[in-house]
Amino acid sequence: MIPQDFIQTLLSRTDIVEVIDRRVPLKKSGANYQACCPFHNEKTPSFTVSPTKQFYHCFGCGAHGTAIGFLMEFAGLGYVEAIGTLAEQVGMVMPEMTAPNPAQARQTTSLIDIMQRAEQYYRQQLKASPKAIDYLKARGLTGEVAARFGLGYAPDGWRNLDQVFSPYGDAALEAAGLVIVNDAGQQYDRFRDRVMFPIINQKGDVIGFGGRVLDGGEPKYLNSPETALFQKGHELYGLFQATRAIRDAGRVLVVEGYMDVVALAQHGVEYAVATLGTATTPFHVQKLLRLCDQVVFCFDGDKPGQKAAWRALENALPQLVDGKRIGFLFLPEEHDPDTYIREFGTEAFEHELENSLPLSGYLLRELTADVDLRTQEGRSALLKNAQPLLTAITAPTTALLLRKEVAALAGVTQAELEALYVIKPIAAPQRQAPQKAKRAVPSGLRILLRCLVMKPELARELPRDFHGEGNEGAAIAALVDWLNESADETSTAAMIQHFQGTLHGPVFANAQGEVIHWGEDFDILAEFTGIMRKIRRDAIETEMSMLQAKGLAMNELERVRHDELKEELKQLRAQVG
Ligand SMILES: [Zn+2]
Repeated sequence: MIPQDFIQTLLSRTDIVEVIDRRVPLKKSGANYQACCPFHNEKTPSFTVSPTKQFYHCFGCGAHGTAIGFLMEFAGLGYVEAIGTLAEQVGMVMPEMTAPNPAQARQTTSLIDIMQRAEQYYRQQLKASPKAIDYLKARGLTGEVAARFGLGYAPDGWRNLDQVFSPYGDAALEAAGLVIVNDAGQQYDRFRDRVMFPIINQKGDVIGFGGRVLDGGEPKYLNSPETALFQKGHELYGLFQATRAIRDAGRVLVVEGYMDVVALAQHGVEYAVATLGTATTPFHVQKLLRLCDQVVFCFDGDKPGQKAAWRALENALPQLVDGKRIGFLFLPEEHDPDTYIREFGTEAFEHELENSLPLSGYLLRELTADVDLRTQEGRSALLKNAQPLLTAITAPTTALLLRKEVAALAGVTQAELEALYVIKPIAAPQRQAPQKAKRAVPSGLRILLRCLVMKPELARELPRDFHGEGNEGAAIAALVDWLNESADETSTAAMIQHFQGTLHGPVFANAQGEVIHWGEDFDILAEFTGIMRKIRRDAIETEMSMLQAKGLAMNELERVRHDELKEELKQLRAQVG
């Protein structure tokens, strides 16, 4: 558990505008910032970010939250991951990291700094190298796309980074993977005479580089080694730049090389990412399925491409989610995505994508390719080969449909196949209880709630046992409870974060949408005082009318109470004037 006060401090030091603007460019609009919503398709911007209140709200689809919520929704990060990302950017150390290894946290920060300086250096060098510029131009890349991906150039020579880092012998350069130390103890630059592709993680930090030769040298691609920052099996090249386009397109394309990603972006296919010299891992698949509903793997048509595709399929099976689609696109043998899109254009490429082979089709095609289903041996081999694959699938519907198909191909019943694989029948899904009809909410509470969203600490003025009708009343009561438990300062953002995902989340979200356009000169205190008076007046009137209904049957105590209320009401009315 991350302590509440850590989150409060984090949100008070974070600037949500900066966090979102890096991923979804924002435009100033009055007191707020706007963009076309990354969570739904729209042509006119209704996605609004408030710098003073530190939250975002979309008037089109209702998406809302704080900087933490944004990273979770937009970049598909987990809760702790999102907090870690923001913490790193404002230089706070995650609480659970404090105890075991502060040295490691410091090292991470210094490595990020080193990588950033190296990236700047390589970018400058590209500008000074006609050779490298010509190479990129010959591949049809414009300066704009090169800048978007931060492309650079590592010049020829053994110790160029000497100009950037001193001392060059610092062990941190080796730890960052930029410098190699040979057996004789000599140090030299890892990347020499290569076009440099910075590898950026989802936090937006440069964590590694891919370097590509300009001529026919070997190896064609050279990657940073695994470092404290860079784990190949977790990262995807281009994901940081592609996230927005993946959201918009509702799909992501996984290709094999950096140059493919950049070339596709040049041709308007901006939702592509590449694995980093490793097979597609389950971690990759999971990450991508959190961002969109369709993942298409695009591999070269050659033997290694086929092998890579099958590995991707095996690693995708346990991650499958019903309703999400995974497809495979095999290009003609002589092509990769870069050459294909340059030769045939964007439309032809996207047409190929539309017709990619679904995972189930690819799986069945491969399973039946080398077996003769007319023979018992062939059918038996099919059942045996299919078992580890089918039992790896946890998505119930997908698993069921594939089992049916394999059973049919093998000439057995579905029940027989399941008995063979020892699969237990799927329990019937529990029926959800029908939602209770919502009660109409008194508008006084709604106004009060808006005031509290603007200035949560006003809730301290409310009685500790506050209770009100409807969803708004319950949300306000929860807010009062929360504030009374923690004596700390609070903010709108901290409050939203606290109630996100709870029963009260949607109620606060609604109020957020209302207040985001309230200007800073809005007299919140006057509004609050007014509404508190009105609420009190309503309560008095209700109680009085109940007493009055008794008429002569009122006892002495009730009569006294009635007079007290009458007096209070008179005073309240006088204050309002
Ligand atoms: Zn939206």
